[in-house]
Amino acid sequence: MIFNLTIMGTASAMPISDRNPSAQMLEVHGRLFLLDCGEGTQQQMRRAHLAFMKVEAVFISHIHGDHLFGLFGLLNTMTMYGRTAPLYIYGPRALGSVLNFYRSFFGEHESYDIVFTPVDCRGPQLVHRSKWVTVTAFPLNHKIECYGYRFDEIVTERHWQENPAYHPKSYAYCSDTSPLPELAEWVMGVDLLYHEATYPNEMADKAADRGHSTAAQAAQCAKDAGAARLVVGHYSSRITDFDALQAECREIFPETVAAQDGDVFKI
Ligand SMILES: [Zn+2]
Ligand SMILES: [Zn+2]
Repeated sequence: MIFNLTIMGTASAMPISDRNPSAQMLEVHGRLFLLDCGEGTQQQMRRAHLAFMKVEAVFISHIHGDHLFGLFGLLNTMTMYGRTAPLYIYGPRALGSVLNFYRSFFGEHESYDIVFTPVDCRGPQLVHRSKWVTVTAFPLNHKIECYGYRFDEIVTERHWQENPAYHPKSYAYCSDTSPLPELAEWVMGVDLLYHEATYPNEMADKAADRGHSTAAQAAQCAKDAGAARLVVGHYSSRITDFDALQAECREIFPETVAAQDGDVFKI
C-alpha cells in the first residue's frame, strides 16, 4: 500500500525566493489528497510529478492566503484538462464564499462539479471516506477558525484475515496552531505527524501572539501523541538555521525532520 506524503511548501505567509507557502500531497494507493494550496502549488505538483487529475479531494485548513491562494489556478487547470470527476473540497464555512466568488467569474465553463462540504466541529469529525482512507477533521488553535486533518487507512476484512498483525497506516496534518491540550489525543498514535513550527524556542512570545507554535511545542505534541515520526514546517521568513530548529525539536522528540520543499515521506 503506497502512503506517501510530498511536502510542496514549508514557508509561512511572507513570500521568499526559495520556499513555497503551505501545500502537501498525500498519495494513497494512486489517489491524491491535497492539504492546503498556497501560491505556486501547481508548479510544485509539476516538479513532484503529481497528476492534477488524480486529486480526489482538497482539504483547506483555514482562510489565510498562504494556505489558499493557489487553489483558483488549480481549479481552472482541471477544467482546461477536461476533468469530469467531481472534486471534493473541505474547509471552514467561509471557504464556500471564496469558492462562490471564484465560480462567479471563472466557473461558467467548468467541466466538473466542485462538491464543497463545510467543516464545523469542536472535536474530531469524520468528513471524507475514500476507497482506502477515512479523513477526520479536528479544530486547531489559531487566530481564525482552523482545522487539521487525520488520514487513517481502511483495512478490508480479508486483509485482516490474511495479515492479523497488520498495522494500518495513518497521517495527521496540523496546520497553523498554538498548542492545544486536546490535540495530542486527536492525533494519537499516528505514523507520521506534521505540526507547524513557525518559530524557534527563543521566539515563544511571538508564536503565542500570532497563533503559532515553537519547535519545542510541536515536538511536545508529537511526544504526547505517541507519534512514530514528526515533520515540521511553516517556517517564519526570519529563520535561516533549520538544523538548529530541528535540533530544538529533537531534544524533546528525536524522530523529527525539519522539512524542506520537495521532501517525500513514505509512511
Ligand atoms: Zn500560515
Ligand atoms: Zn494562518
